[in-house]
Amino acid sequence: MIPVKGFEGKRVAIFGLGRSGLSAARALKAGGAEPLLWDDKPASVMAATKEKFTVENLKNADWSEIDALMLSPGVPLTHPEPHWTVKLARAAGVPVIGDIELFARTIAALPERKRPKTVAITGTNGKSTTTALIGHILKSAGKDVHVGGNIGIGILDLPQAFHSGSIYVIETSSYQLDLIETFRPDVSVLMNFSPDHLDRHGGMDGYIAAKRRIFMNQTDAETAVVGADDDYSIAVISDLRVNHSVRLIPISSRRNVGDGVYAINGVLYDGTGERTRQVVDLKTIRTLTGRHNWQNAAAAYSACKALGVGLEAIVAGMRSFPGLAHRMQEIGRIGKIRFINDSKATNADAARQAMSSFDSFFWIVGGRAKAGGIEELSDLFGRVKHAYLIGEAAELFEKTIGKAAKCTQSRLLFTAVAQAYAAADKSGKDEIVLFSPACASFDQFSDFEARGDAFRDAVQEISKSIVQEA
Ligand code: ADP
Repeated sequence: MIPVKGFEGKRVAIFGLGRSGLSAARALKAGGAEPLLWDDKPASVMAATKEKFTVENLKNADWSEIDALMLSPGVPLTHPEPHWTVKLARAAGVPVIGDIELFARTIAALPERKRPKTVAITGTNGKSTTTALIGHILKSAGKDVHVGGNIGIGILDLPQAFHSGSIYVIETSSYQLDLIETFRPDVSVLMNFSPDHLDRHGGMDGYIAAKRRIFMNQTDAETAVVGADDDYSIAVISDLRVNHSVRLIPISSRRNVGDGVYAINGVLYDGTGERTRQVVDLKTIRTLTGRHNWQNAAAAYSACKALGVGLEAIVAGMRSFPGLAHRMQEIGRIGKIRFINDSKATNADAARQAMSSFDSFFWIVGGRAKAGGIEELSDLFGRVKHAYLIGEAAELFEKTIGKAAKCTQSRLLFTAVAQAYAAADKSGKDEIVLFSPACASFDQFSDFEARGDAFRDAVQEISKSIVQEA
């Protein structure tokens, strides 16, 4: 745990007592602050009372005595409308912050020689992969690295490793960035933008504005790595060039971006020096295949280089990267059929990456549809040998894909896997069964991890039953 500094003897209200709210409470208390906890769920309030925290209905609190409101990521800051605690805090002039800001204040309070370096990663897609890849490269280069935030362990639950040689690699969501004030990462990474979570930010402009906050405290002593593969991000780059003095490194997975880092046909180049250098042919690294991973690799290379890691060490780290579960992960093979788990593809844009990586496949798709459904993937429907539709979106998706490819209403994931296997097996050729749902998981599963595990279990069960038959 990281005891929070900068709030000694001060009262910090915390609303939302899920995992990150309780972690913040513990970290604040350990650092000498007086957290005041509240939630509208009685069970959460009970849990806080059991831990001997001060629990108080914030509706009745004296806000003139409160120094900050720490909001949990699930609690609305602006949309559909500010939560009542936010309204009360604002009326009293109390800053509304989140766990990343608590971390930022803590390291700002340290003397220079003890201050760790920080890398923060955001974007619509590829955050976790890039975060994990950066963490892995730095670790294999011998650094003292701690990876967390929106991935794995919450930021305040990471170990306290305060010395100038340590590095925190932090995945940050747009919600978390909405709640920073002074956070100033040594390296910020903004991957890309596509419409997602718009309900929480009141539309695309709000969503972009939230993510852009990652740069807001950076100066020319810090580095900003920014994807240049979509129009929204390109506009951000142009704006940063004109209005911000941060050290900017544009990255691309598809074209020469001059003084940046870019992949062309999978070969990674570094154009940031006097002479352009060839870094590595990413096609030779199995866990970094696909154009989307070329963007992730370009980002990771740029971030690690900015932290002083040499080219050879970065490439060695890339080569030993094991990849992340549920992201285009080959989880099994039955005969000539390979099963790919891409459960993390919770929107069409993410599914596009996996679909573009295979020339033809049996596609398991569906769940709770996102706005726009899968219409925008129609240019890839020609690659679909047969679509197996699951979850709430099954009927809607049949309307979208039905004319372009054969499809079956499987409804349940296990049924879909069994049907896809039977059809793929019949072909007698090398085949791919791709589970890239392009939907949220919440209609049938608790999260994308549970959904991916269910896919893997189904494949294993079918595999076992075939061995038994034989
Ligand atoms: P995030 O943490 O931003 O959700 P992940 O790294 O977990 O991103 O990847 C989520 C999904 O998005 C994966 O299914 C993968 O196929 C796809 N993806 C990964 N990297 C990128 C990228 N750079 N651009 C677009 N899609 C990506």
